[in-house]
Amino acid sequence: MKTIFQKIIDREIPAMLAHEDEHCIAIHDINPQAPVHVLVIPKKLIPRVGEATAADQPILGHLLLTAAALAQKLGLESGYRLVINNGRDGGETVPHLHVHLLGKRPLAWPPG
Ligand code: 5GP
Repeated sequence: MKTIFQKIIDREIPAMLAHEDEHCIAIHDINPQAPVHVLVIPKKLIPRVGEATAADQPILGHLLLTAAALAQKLGLESGYRLVINNGRDGGETVPHLHVHLLGKRPLAWPPG
């Protein structure tokens, strides 16, 4: 069974694309929690960061660098937050690793 993100990567369902390269896509979240809420998603199916391996180190770094570049492109110079939810208690709902990029509003700490 493909995840919803795999279907978006395979262009089986639409999404608002913010970025695409050989290794990842970035899409605007369908249920945004901030004025900017983008998901950076590896094309390789890694279910969650807790299941990533040493072989995934380059792609993990690429996701963070892509998120930082997108933050700059989307005008988040006053700050932003990157979030990776892992597992049930972490709030993960889609079992395909993704980095949330949130910005354009002050973000409280600690998170909920
Ligand atoms: P998680 O809860 O797994 O960390 O994040 C999953 C995110 O995917 C949620 O913020 C949710 O709104 C978003 N999402 C779920 N389905 C879709 C979809 O079909 N399209 C887009 N663009 N975002 C989705």
